[in-house]
Amino acid sequence: MEREGRLNEPMLDIKQKPKSITRACTRCGEEMHLSRFYKNRARCKACFHETGKESYKKYYENNKETVKERSRARSFRNKEKARVTALVMRVLDNDTIRI
Ligand SMILES: [Zn+2]
Repeated sequence: MEREGRLNEPMLDIKQKPKSITRACTRCGEEMHLSRFYKNRARCKACFHETGKESYKKYYENNKETVKERSRARSFRNKEKARVTALVMRVLDNDTIRI
């Protein structure tokens, strides 16, 4: 009899833990609202970015040449892109004038 009554209830009781809206950051230890965390992360957003910066610094120290080379390549690509865009814009503008 009791089971029949339960069958009509949604099967959520196993999953439904009382959801905490705060979490303690594993890096700075501060208890904060969940909005200060990325989904499924134990570190708060600020610490997440800090650790990202730290590991990038480490990476940069160990790979200076690669990083510089990539930066140069990106800068060159961007300049090329800007040059082509400027050229296309000039052609388009001229076409509009001719029409
Ligand atoms: Zn933190």
